[in-house]
Amino acid sequence: MTTASRVILTNDVDLSSVAYGMWRLGDDTDTSPSHIQAKIEACLALGITTMDQADIYGGYEAEELLGACFRQSPALRDRVEIVTKCGIVAPAGRYADARVKHYNTSKEHILQSVDTSLRLMNIDVIDLLLIHRPDPFMDHRNAAEGLEAVIASGKVKSVGVSNFKPHDWQLLESAMSSPLVTNQIEMSVMATEAFTNGDLSFLQQRDVPAMAWSPLGGGGLFTGTNAQLTATLKSVSERFDTDISNVALAWLMSHPSAIIPVLGTNKIERIGNVEAALSLRLDRETWFEIYTAAIGRDVP
Ligand code: NAP
Repeated sequence: MTTASRVILTNDVDLSSVAYGMWRLGDDTDTSPSHIQAKIEACLALGITTMDQADIYGGYEAEELLGACFRQSPALRDRVEIVTKCGIVAPAGRYADARVKHYNTSKEHILQSVDTSLRLMNIDVIDLLLIHRPDPFMDHRNAAEGLEAVIASGKVKSVGVSNFKPHDWQLLESAMSSPLVTNQIEMSVMATEAFTNGDLSFLQQRDVPAMAWSPLGGGGLFTGTNAQLTATLKSVSERFDTDISNVALAWLMSHPSAIIPVLGTNKIERIGNVEAALSLRLDRETWFEIYTAAIGRDVP
């Protein structure tokens, strides 16, 4: 059996080369602790140990679903790394009183959010905390103080960001003494902008692994909206005796920068199916064959 490799972020934290995302956890027909455990076990069987959460997932309820699973099976916690995020305040759940959806990257909010995430997930430490979205009202020194404080308190092992542009990263980094260890951004055959707009090259230059959210276009890959792309993925998948989802994942993982796709399926059999992607590496010409179909034209 092929298993996921490891991606080292710090002396203390490494992730699996594929992560499992829990955004859709609450959309599953079965949200029981046992079923969530079964999904995690399916991941672990493939060496997928990194679980991606956010305070806001499921209307601020997904972390609690995972917490119920850890309460039922405490030994599971030490077999996984927990990534979670903070900074989005939407009028739902614990923020039902918010007048408008907004971002909060203040020290006070970061400290409160970490405490709530730890409590809801029934854990003592978050392996990786991400600021979920760039905040146009960010006081970078205050945000950095918050991130340094949660590391210093031992509640968080490492910190990073999500959806940041290079200038957002540089602003926050300028006030930090701890490193930012990843940027979780949208990347897939359905969303290729990061490969050419500087977002990925910025990380690659710094040897910072990127995490790719919605690596199958949030399911859009299967609706056939881009017929040329679907046909190309099908033809490549036949050559490699696999399916289009594994080719789409391999397309990300074959890139010379370290890209960690964050899976989003709720189906246990679809988690198991990812095994084929773990050993599939696309050569340059095949990568471009798919890229060309994705952007709808030959490269100049
Ligand atoms: P995705 O893997 O691109 O999409 C998952 C969706 O595709 C699910 O609805 C799944 O349905 C469907 N799907 C998968 N395989 C399929 C197949 N063979 N045929 C038909 N449908 C299929 O990922 P995502 O869920 O959009 O995002 C993954 C993770 O990224 C999230 O859980 C979250 O952790 C993270 N994320 C982060 C951000 C951010 O701002 N940082 C934003 C979005 C997401 P089934 O469940 O039925 O398989």
